[in-house]
Amino acid sequence: METAAQLQGMRIRYDEGQLVVPDVPIIPFIEGDGIGPDIWRATQRMVDGAVEKTYGGQRRIQWLPLLAGERAHEETGEWLPKATLEEIRSHRVAIKGPLTTPVGGGIRSLNVTLRQELDLYACVRPIRYIAGVPSPMRAPEQVDMVIFRENTEDVYTGIEWPAGSEAARRLAAFVTDELGQPVSPEAGIGVKPMTRAGSERIIRAAIDYALAHGRRSVTMMHKGNIMKYTEGAFREWGYALAERDYSGRVITEQALWDEFGGEVPAGKVLLKDRIADIMFQQVILRPAEYDVIACPNLNGDYLSDALAAQVGGVGMAPGANMSDGLAVFEATHGTAPKYANQDKVNPGSLVLSAIMMLEYIGWGEAGRALDAALSATIAEGVVTYDLARQRADAREVKTSEFATAVVAHLGGH
Ligand code: NAP
Repeated sequence: METAAQLQGMRIRYDEGQLVVPDVPIIPFIEGDGIGPDIWRATQRMVDGAVEKTYGGQRRIQWLPLLAGERAHEETGEWLPKATLEEIRSHRVAIKGPLTTPVGGGIRSLNVTLRQELDLYACVRPIRYIAGVPSPMRAPEQVDMVIFRENTEDVYTGIEWPAGSEAARRLAAFVTDELGQPVSPEAGIGVKPMTRAGSERIIRAAIDYALAHGRRSVTMMHKGNIMKYTEGAFREWGYALAERDYSGRVITEQALWDEFGGEVPAGKVLLKDRIADIMFQQVILRPAEYDVIACPNLNGDYLSDALAAQVGGVGMAPGANMSDGLAVFEATHGTAPKYANQDKVNPGSLVLSAIMMLEYIGWGEAGRALDAALSATIAEGVVTYDLARQRADAREVKTSEFATAVVAHLGGH
């Protein structure tokens, strides 16, 4: 039998709603700008080590470098080359470091563009505490949530006009004169479109994840008391979806108390909703009550970074942008240019994203091995500067040294 080292890499396919992953999948990566190359190098070593250790040479990843960001702009004149988008689309699973957002010019943000071009409608952010990571929480071990943030609608569509522009004035006049809602002709105006289809698919993704992973609840976070026909509708559409498509598997809070005595029965998921402002308080005071969270785009943006702070900050927060059968895993922080090429920063966000990726392609054993090695390294106080400055007992190491320590914990490398 040939070993993975002798086999040619092949594309991951998506057949009848299932990923089909060969023993040597080709996975594209974008190393990213600023600190990207430092954290990518470290991550690649840790992932390759975990795969080799777990599958004993029967599986490996064939990495395919893709251009985006500053290097792409220098070499091709484009920030996000069409070829890069095509390669991601055709390989189905990719991973990326942070990208500089070009100031001025046509592109608002490469990340937003990537999500929109590939219709990656779900931004998935697990928030889980790793022992030894400094946390402002009294009981950080209770923090274990997964955010499903809608990625393609809401104010993030960027449909807006500056105050005083012809378009803003015309729109203000239309809303005032035709619709009877007075809007100042001096106002800047933004539009917040949210559809039933867009809301349903993110809530469905959250419910499916909760059911598949034995999670207790899905909370729809919204500001529907004020924005009734967008965020309020998000909530209504979510409950209607659950009733229509998840009967018997998803229960409401009403049923929880009326029929089940306050205990979620095994195999079922509780669907509840909370208004965004109180939710920010409760995830701090009572984190154990929150599990999977489904939210519209802007709420999800705020909540993702707020929750990341509970478990070590953006340097430790993983993420993925997904649609059905297509996923881009990514570091959730930016390019931190002042630390570029210093071999200094924490690769945690990118390597935890890679662990999500291993699980996504069905290589969960390798993901768990890497997670255990990462946790063991942090637990013994071997950490990068960001965590070291918050821990008296820490031994501060460089990015590459951290990777070496994790690989050593995998055993035999
Ligand atoms: P940033 O790059 O995330 O850096 C902000 C601060 O976060 C850093 O100065 C550092 O804090 C900390 N940090 C970030 N990554 C870290 C890591 N791996 N390990 C330890 N600490 C880390 O945010 P920014 O300065 O606002 O943005 C810089 C550029 O990145 C901009 O061009 C922005 O558009 C872009 N950006 C890209 C993405 C993305 O690609 N997903 C996301 C956000 C921003 P200390 O200074 O306290 O050490």
